[in-house]
Amino acid sequence: MPLEIIEGPNIVAGAREWEDREWFPPGPQLAICLSGGKQHLADLTDDELLQVAAAARRQTSWAQARELAAIAELTQRRTTTETTTTGPDGGGDYRTLPAREAVTEEIAAALTVTGNTAATLVHLAQQLTGPLADTGAALETGRIDMAKARVICDTTDSLPDQITQHVQTAALDKAPTQTTGQLRRRIKRIVHRLAPEAAEERKQQAVRQRRLELWDTATGTTDLALCDLAPEDAHGIFNKITAAAHGLKKDGDTRPLHLIRADLATQLLHGTDLPAATRTLLTQTTHRQTRHRAAGNHQGPKTSRAPQHRTANEPATADTGLRTGTAAGDATPTTTPDHDPGLPEVLAMVHRRLTHLRDRTRPADMPAAVNRAIHQLNDRLAPQRDTLCQADAARHGRPGHRPPDNLRREIQERHATCVYPTCNQPSHRCDLDHTVPWRPGITCRCNLAPLCRRHHRLKQTPGWTLHHIWPGLLIWTTPSGAWYIIRPDRQ
Ligand SMILES: [Zn+2]
Ligand SMILES: [Zn+2]
Repeated sequence: MPLEIIEGPNIVAGAREWEDREWFPPGPQLAICLSGGKQHLADLTDDELLQVAAAARRQTSWAQARELAAIAELTQRRTTTETTTTGPDGGGDYRTLPAREAVTEEIAAALTVTGNTAATLVHLAQQLTGPLADTGAALETGRIDMAKARVICDTTDSLPDQITQHVQTAALDKAPTQTTGQLRRRIKRIVHRLAPEAAEERKQQAVRQRRLELWDTATGTTDLALCDLAPEDAHGIFNKITAAAHGLKKDGDTRPLHLIRADLATQLLHGTDLPAATRTLLTQTTHRQTRHRAAGNHQGPKTSRAPQHRTANEPATADTGLRTGTAAGDATPTTTPDHDPGLPEVLAMVHRRLTHLRDRTRPADMPAAVNRAIHQLNDRLAPQRDTLCQADAARHGRPGHRPPDNLRREIQERHATCVYPTCNQPSHRCDLDHTVPWRPGITCRCNLAPLCRRHHRLKQTPGWTLHHIWPGLLIWTTPSGAWYIIRPDRQ
């Protein structure tokens, strides 16, 4: 057998292998070219390094096109099943989630992204395999990246089909050589020219969704934003505050304009009127300067970090990753609360049983097999579970459907959020769900967990099951046969 396989190719060779490769298409071949050891990058010229970076980006686009195609295919399967089983109106059963939303949750859990991100992916996947197929093709061939595909998708949203096609063709023509900002501005101009009424209607629609949003940031601060205001309103407010801030600067406030603006806006939103807010800030300035002089510090205050801009289409909620969920295939028991010595053993038993099962079961049989196996484990653990509840809580099961306050607190402490793997809804805003519905299900710590409304409906959607096999240890199974283990957390 000759050893001359695709020998750690081009990067290793050291010769000018990366020259003239600007349009070497992404795919398996390019993946091989890129897979040379990182240490060889040191041998490349500056130009070649840029070529490698650009090639890796094309390869990423290709991979993202595959990701979206897979999402589109799964969405198509799930939504088709719904149409055939519940009629074209999608059922309308308030107890369950419509197929499109359920598949969004399935994707969120599998990719460990928030529900918002998953919804964006599903929408993008459907557009790029439907009306925006040319944009999908441009992504797959690495002519544009995912960010540009999103711009094209967002800016053509809810436009008439014919206009969308025109806009897409024009956008793709220049997109490879434009940044997302340039692309967005260009498409906006094209849409205004081709379909002024549609553009206006879309704007009015967005204005009807105007809202005040709030989210915590990684640094421990909180952002507050007024979103989707009419431009004249937003610009009017901004200009007014800026003018007042300039006035304050003239009167001696030495701080950067963006800080003064932020303080003025805060005062105004607290209910202070503009003249009073200006006076307050000016008094503070005088005090600050007096203090600085007293401390012998004649330097101006340090310039703080410039405000960061969030693009209009980024979801407001940040991805925080999985809290307790353990994805199928990556199931390693880690720390467990020390109050329950049985938990690590139960976790290990579940992992062993389900991994063993996966290795020996045809994928098509997995959903049924997983549920069967968990039911068996559940039955086997029943006597120990009863003993545990009796020992810890004096009683296994409370009278009535409604859990008493102390039990409610215990459950909310055990799971700080809804027990769906990607959900961040605080448990005090969730329902305490009887995992097995009340009667035969009991009101007990081994059968109660916080679920938000959405994931409560998901639990009742065909193909989904939530098991509670040990107090606080829950397992979700999905229509594809994946499982997610939710451990008690006490953070
Ligand atoms: Zn119990
Ligand atoms: Zn939830």
